[in-house]
Amino acid sequence: MSHAIVGTASAWPIYRRLLGHASRYWPLLALALLGMAIEAAAAGAFTLMMKPIVDETFVEHNPEVLLTLPLAIVGLFLLRGIATFVTDYGMARTGRSVVRDLRQQLFHKYLRLPSASFDATPVPAMVSRLNYDTEQVAQASSDALKVIVTDVLTVVALASVMLFQSLRVTFAVIILVPLIALITNYVGRRYRRINRGIQDGVATMAATAEQALAAQQEVKIYGAQAQESQRYDALAGRNLRLHVKVEATRAMASSTVQLLGAVALAVLLYVAGTEAIVHQRMSAGQFVSLMAAMMAMIPSLKRIANVQSTLQKGIAAADRLFVTLDQPVEHDHGGRTLERARGRVEFDAVGVTYPNQPTPAVSELSLTAEPGTVTAIVGRSGSGKSTLVRLLPRFYEATAGEVRIDGIPLRELRLADLRRQIALVSQKVMLFDDSVAANIAYGALEGATIEQIREAATAAHALEFIERLPQGFDTRIGENGALLSGGQRQRLAIARAFLKDAPILILDEATAALDTESERLIQDALVKLIPDRTTFVIAHRLSTVEHADQVLVMDAGRLVEHGRHDELLALDGLYARLHRMQFREPA
Ligand code: ADP
Repeated sequence: MSHAIVGTASAWPIYRRLLGHASRYWPLLALALLGMAIEAAAAGAFTLMMKPIVDETFVEHNPEVLLTLPLAIVGLFLLRGIATFVTDYGMARTGRSVVRDLRQQLFHKYLRLPSASFDATPVPAMVSRLNYDTEQVAQASSDALKVIVTDVLTVVALASVMLFQSLRVTFAVIILVPLIALITNYVGRRYRRINRGIQDGVATMAATAEQALAAQQEVKIYGAQAQESQRYDALAGRNLRLHVKVEATRAMASSTVQLLGAVALAVLLYVAGTEAIVHQRMSAGQFVSLMAAMMAMIPSLKRIANVQSTLQKGIAAADRLFVTLDQPVEHDHGGRTLERARGRVEFDAVGVTYPNQPTPAVSELSLTAEPGTVTAIVGRSGSGKSTLVRLLPRFYEATAGEVRIDGIPLRELRLADLRRQIALVSQKVMLFDDSVAANIAYGALEGATIEQIREAATAAHALEFIERLPQGFDTRIGENGALLSGGQRQRLAIARAFLKDAPILILDEATAALDTESERLIQDALVKLIPDRTTFVIAHRLSTVEHADQVLVMDAGRLVEHGRHDELLALDGLYARLHRMQFREPA
């Protein structure tokens, strides 16, 4: 997605949009702009002051300025200092605020993107966008803007001072300076070209020598010494000529540039001298002021020339951010509300093809799960079990057919209403850096009372270990629950599901074996959780499939066998084979 920004044509809309983000802070921005204008004016004023400093103090020996001029300098720099502070503060505040806004919007956006977006962009790239790209944008929107405005205004102010001091001399400068720059540039290019020629020549020379010396026996036996020497001599001679040429160019260049500088100065002096002596239109102070303005302009011009790269980087980063911000969020156009479903789930000729995948992950799958029943899904890894259950909370959408809850197609339901009907206990239990209680009453369950949380924890067999934690329910879990064992985390997830008390339950049984005690506690907790809900379980345990109301056997995205455990065993097909190989039971 890192398409480079080519030319300014595509950069402008992005910069405008960025300025749009900054426009909320317009009072600060206006203040900063005022500060920039004052800074530029102060630079002009200082060079302008060179005239009275030289003329009044040293030429006219005017006693009145003895104190006023030094005071004026201090005053000017005081004003300038305040202006600089206001500018820097205003720009920093604006820039950082824009970054904060972008970060917030981006994070908010990320949490609403469909699951498929997470397949396309790895999480580290998302985090880098949040941290790094926003940072680049800050620099473009504050630093670059500051340079552009302040330095352009400074150049304008200084050029005005020059013009004010002498029109003719300024015009002479305007003609001479680009001319010198052009010649210097030409000489420099020629020098670099010849230098490259030398490097290439040295490489060829070395290769020739190496070849001849390594093959010295062949050279001798074929009597090729003279031939090889000749070849080498030619290359060495060429090297000499190039070296002389580059040295001559360099020497010429530096004297030419110096001479040009001198000539330019001479012309300036002549023009200025004519103005002073013949026309009496220029004083010493005016000349000094003009030269000072010219010199002061150089750093600003350099910064203006260099600001492009900061701007480009910022624009490229902003472009990446805007592409993300413009991504469509999860479809949520369904208008039907659902307080609490009974829990009848139907899959009707459902197919799922992931984006950019040639074959469907699930195809032509139909089944019905009645409220209060357990549907176990088995099959080899990659057979489509997870894909199937991910359709229920609409993490992914069916690309064919339809899934219905209580007869309502999922698409027609409000997303929040749909997801309220489902509790999920997956293999990978996500815990957040918060208290145990907050982890059980997570998200929309935030309002739960401590009694309810305790009840859920008890049912999930989590109370035993929670009470042994240093601060019980108030113990902070720390990043990703390093404090807790796999079995304990599972039980917290089950407690969450108890608290949510949803009519539909999705279980993804752990494939890795837990210790027997944990396994027993978890089984026991699940047995209490399952009744009265429509349960889908990606099954790895024998007891789960044995007690399921129906077992779905998946293979390469298709439902190949469907029935109860003993029926399927009797069939002696894929299920019977999987059964022999796969299912484990705690000892
Ligand atoms: P199981 O849960 O049975 O291991 P999955 O439902 O995870 O199977 O995978 C079914 C098929 O879909 C596999 O071929 C897998 O590579 C593919 N698949 C799973 N998730 C994605 C995804 N997010 N993007 C693209 N393909 C996927």
